[in-house]
Amino acid sequence: MNLQHEKIIQLCDELKLEGLSNEYSAICQQCAKEEVSFTDCLEQLLKAEASARSVRTKSMLTRMSGLPIIKTLDEFDFDFAHGVPKKQIMELASLAFIERKENIVLLGPSGIGKTHMAIALGYLATQAGIRVRFLSAADLIVLLEEAQKRETYKKTMVTLTAPKLLIIDEIGYLPLARNQADHFFQVIAKRYEKGSVILTSNLNFGQWDKTFAGDGVLTAAMLDRLLHHSHVLALKGESYRLKEKRKAGIVKGN
Ligand code: ADP
Ligand code: MG
Repeated sequence: MNLQHEKIIQLCDELKLEGLSNEYSAICQQCAKEEVSFTDCLEQLLKAEASARSVRTKSMLTRMSGLPIIKTLDEFDFDFAHGVPKKQIMELASLAFIERKENIVLLGPSGIGKTHMAIALGYLATQAGIRVRFLSAADLIVLLEEAQKRETYKKTMVTLTAPKLLIIDEIGYLPLARNQADHFFQVIAKRYEKGSVILTSNLNFGQWDKTFAGDGVLTAAMLDRLLHHSHVLALKGESYRLKEKRKAGIVKGN
C-alpha cells in the first residue's frame, strides 16, 4: 500500500466520498491504460461517487419507509385481479400522483392484493428517491396515542406529514374509539393538498363511519378531503391466498 493511496483514502473519508474511495483506483488505472483525458477521467470518478450515493439513498429510504416486505408490480398478476386496469396502475407507477399530491384508495376484500399494490407503489417511490412512510391503521393509532401520553404529539405528527407519500394499510379491521378517530382525521387533514396518501380498506366508503366511531360527520369531512384529488381502485374477485392454496390442493374448488 503506497503513501499516496493512503492519503487519497483518508481525504475521501474526511470528505465522505465512499464511492470514490472504493472505485478511484480501478477507474484511474483504466483511464491511464486507455489514455483517457483528465477531464474525462474526472467525470468518471464523479459519476462513480454519484452512483454510489444514489444506491445508499435508495436503501436508506427503503429502510426508513417501514415497508413490511418488498413487493413489485412485476410480480402482480393483472389477469387475476379484476377492477384493476393495468393501464391505470402503470400511469400511477409513473409516480406523477405524488408530485400532484393526489391520493390513492384501494378497496376490496381480503387477500385481493391491496397491500401488495400499496407496497409496490411505495417501493417504486423509494427507488425514485422519494421519502415514504408505511403504517397499518392500528399502528398509526398506537403511535399517536403514545405520542399524546409522552407529549410528543406535534413531533410525531411532523414525521407523518414530512414524507411525500404516507401509506396507511388496513382501515376497517379495527373499529376506532372517538379520540382515535380524531387522531386519524388530524393526519388526513394535515396532509390535505400537501402530500399523497395511499389507503387500503376492506370496507366500502358507505361503511367507513362504522370504523370511525360511528361519527358520520367526521367521516364525511375526512372523505371529503381524502377524495378531493384521488384515484379510487376497487379490486374485485377472490382471495389470491385462497387461489394459491387451491393450487396446492389445500382448499377444494375450481
Ligand atoms: P390484501 O391486502 O388485499 O388483503 P395482499 O396484498 O396482502 O391482500 O395479498 C395477499 C397475498 O397474495 C400477498 O402475498 C400478495 O403478494 C399476493 N397477491 C395478491 N394479489 C395478487 C396478484 N394479483 N398477483 C400476484 N400476487 C398477488
Ligand atoms: Mg392487506
